[in-house]
Amino acid sequence: MPSQVAEQLHVDLGARGYDIAIGPGLIGRAGAEITSLPNAPNRVVVVTDHHVAELHLAPLERSLSDAGLAFDAFVVPAGEASKSFASFEKLCEALLTAGLERKTWLIALGGGVVGDLTGFAAAVLLRGLDFVQIPTSLLAQVDSSVGGKTGINSAHGKNLVGAFHQPRLVLADSGALATLPRRELLAGYAEIVKCGALGDAAFFAWLEEHGAHVVEGDAKAQIRAVATSCKTKAAIVAADERERGRRALLNLGHTFGHALEAETGYSSALLHGEAVAIGMVMAFDLSVRLGYCRPEEADRLRRHLAAVGLATDLSDLPQVDWNAERLLGHMRKDKKVSDGRLTFILARSLGEAFVTQEVPESEVLALLQDVIAASALARRAIG
Ligand code: NAD
Repeated sequence: MPSQVAEQLHVDLGARGYDIAIGPGLIGRAGAEITSLPNAPNRVVVVTDHHVAELHLAPLERSLSDAGLAFDAFVVPAGEASKSFASFEKLCEALLTAGLERKTWLIALGGGVVGDLTGFAAAVLLRGLDFVQIPTSLLAQVDSSVGGKTGINSAHGKNLVGAFHQPRLVLADSGALATLPRRELLAGYAEIVKCGALGDAAFFAWLEEHGAHVVEGDAKAQIRAVATSCKTKAAIVAADERERGRRALLNLGHTFGHALEAETGYSSALLHGEAVAIGMVMAFDLSVRLGYCRPEEADRLRRHLAAVGLATDLSDLPQVDWNAERLLGHMRKDKKVSDGRLTFILARSLGEAFVTQEVPESEVLALLQDVIAASALARRAIG
């Protein structure tokens, strides 16, 4: 890796291990980075979405061309709808029409949608192609581009059709974050907070001091936050690639968050990271109710998320007719239900989360009812 790379990490998965480079200008050096890898391709196909194509495809194409790599580019519509079966089929047929060989690599240039879609195409086309992640959203840089989870959505729910397929390289260009809309940046920041809250108390304390710099666009703070989050994720993935145990910690806030997303139809009314922020608060509140965690810890989490501008309560969201039973119903359909029991990530403190299936549904229902009642009260007070 060249000297300008600000941070470099390795995901230690033996023969499937790979580097994550984080720093400015990486899109413009992608061609050189790819051709320096063992068994490098002579042709690549870039998949991106139309927002990112406009902003970041040209420098990537220049760098591929400078490195002597033949390439094609496919642009999909921006947004979650591109993770449908129909879009996936369209992409696969287009890639096959363009003529793939086993040695052709795919490049995912974009947010988590493009990464998940392209990664899954790479997993199944010709029974497996190598691919490179070039994440351009904060969420993708700190979470979805690392760890090899790829997939698309089904009518039954999100990410239900997919594969574990690790990339050959991750290039997280910190410069790309400058063009990311603020709301998307904040949603990605929630996943950074998650990394501190689940297992790194010192990082959480650092975020309390420097989080505002991260969301205001300070490149140095962003690189440090992305690198620390990737370090946490890389260590967890290296220990438990297929989520048989510890990897589930990365789902802190997700059991509640997915239910909120399902209830809002996975629409732009509630972004994934926004749902995770509220979901983490609920997970800490549940931990307090069950006697695992002191209320001060849950308050500290709520205060930090609110300080950077993230919603922490249902009353912060556009009005939805929330219903506790319906939310619990969504949770029962979660991928992580096992033997009919819900999986929760709870916490003993900020920086110490644990996985459990021992939470009585009556406690979850009571929490949801209280949260919904409190949000209705807050709304009335405001209105
Ligand atoms: P996204 O890919 O839809 O990107 C968000 C928006 O930002 C899009 O409109 C995109 O075009 C735009 N964008 C991206 N980079 C930009 C840039 N640099 N400048 C301007 N605009 C830019 O959404 P996301 O939040 O990145 O990812 C969400 C997806 O990730 C969901 O589908 C979720 O299921 C998935 N996910 C996967 C994993 C995993 O481990 N595979 C983990 C978390 C989330």
